[in-house]
Amino acid sequence: MRFAGISEITQQLKNENFYWKIGFYALILAGLVHGLFLLVFAAIGLLPMALFNIGSVALYGVIVFALGVPTLQSKDDRLIGWLVYGEILAHNVAATFFLGREAGFDLYLFLLVGLPFFIFSYSRPVYLLRIVFASFVILVIELCPCFADGSFHGASHGVILSIRAMNVAVFLFTLVFLSYLYTSSERQTRERLTRDLYRDPLTGLYNRRYTSKLLRKWRYEPESLEKTALILMDLDHFKRLNDRYGHDCGDEALKRTAEALQEALYDVVAFRWGGEEFLLVLDSVPDDEVLRHIAERIRSAVAAKPIECPQGEIPFTASIGATRFLSDDSFYTALTRADKALYRAKETGRDRVIVL
Ligand code: GH3
Ligand code: MG
Ligand code: MG
Repeated sequence: MRFAGISEITQQLKNENFYWKIGFYALILAGLVHGLFLLVFAAIGLLPMALFNIGSVALYGVIVFALGVPTLQSKDDRLIGWLVYGEILAHNVAATFFLGREAGFDLYLFLLVGLPFFIFSYSRPVYLLRIVFASFVILVIELCPCFADGSFHGASHGVILSIRAMNVAVFLFTLVFLSYLYTSSERQTRERLTRDLYRDPLTGLYNRRYTSKLLRKWRYEPESLEKTALILMDLDHFKRLNDRYGHDCGDEALKRTAEALQEALYDVVAFRWGGEEFLLVLDSVPDDEVLRHIAERIRSAVAAKPIECPQGEIPFTASIGATRFLSDDSFYTALTRADKALYRAKETGRDRVIVL
């Protein structure tokens, strides 16, 4: 059995479900807080609670350690969920029983009602049952006179108030800490999903979906179209390259092409428009001569980057059709013209640029 280090686990969690990431940090926090409780209970001589907290520290320690076992399964997750739920419930009911409501241990019970929504995607009825049961326990603790004063009389009122201050502070810190983890993890996930939504995974270039963003920009700034140009590029005899040297080699050519585009240009929006077809959208192209010059630079940059295949270094070329937006052109009118130019480049021998 192999155990992963803490940093390895957090890395895994970052890549996985962010609910688990929050749970993981919450478990570490819980272990530390119980260490603090252990000291407090030992200091006031409340032995049963001190012993309880030795158990709690051990429990959270074992759970955090167990999360490093790669073979952990979802039924183990559920067991961990129950253990943590039971521990929080039992600890805080017992502490309130000994020290009374004023000591503030009842606050942590509220976590059992709010926290589940942060940590798990609560869909199963059993989770709802947990929330309902915790709510019932809170009602009893808050309303029953039996929990008003504690059964332990070894601590002065001042000490009880100090413990309350500690609990309020720890409770508030926990809330802020977990809320921060939740919002920051959610933001990261959202950013990653948005990035994936608009990117082609092989080349890292934009995919066709990103067109909607461009169209929106142009709708609000139609004047920016005046000097905009489109370059449509298609790799030559790509099917042959795939057939001769293998699909992996073809993929490598696509990656190389994307790299060449990014190295040759700046201030450009580059799409993987289709299988081996790339679309570039350029700002600030004043006339066709400049456009031809840029397109030529791209063509030669691609041709200058052969790929390493098992059979050796394989050169490949691309054909390019380019056009500038004319007044009243829609995106699709300009694109159709670029496509026509590309077709002509293919027809007239490939590895060349046609501007229309
Ligand atoms: P032309 O010079 O006329 O453009 O010829 P071509 O062979 O490049 O054109 P064709 O459209 O016939 O072939 C495109 C090929 O691109 C076919 C398809 O298998 C390949 N292709 C599309 N997407 C991918 C991909 O993601 N990876 C690889 N390796 N090949 C792809
Ligand atoms: Mg092709
Ligand atoms: Mg093609």
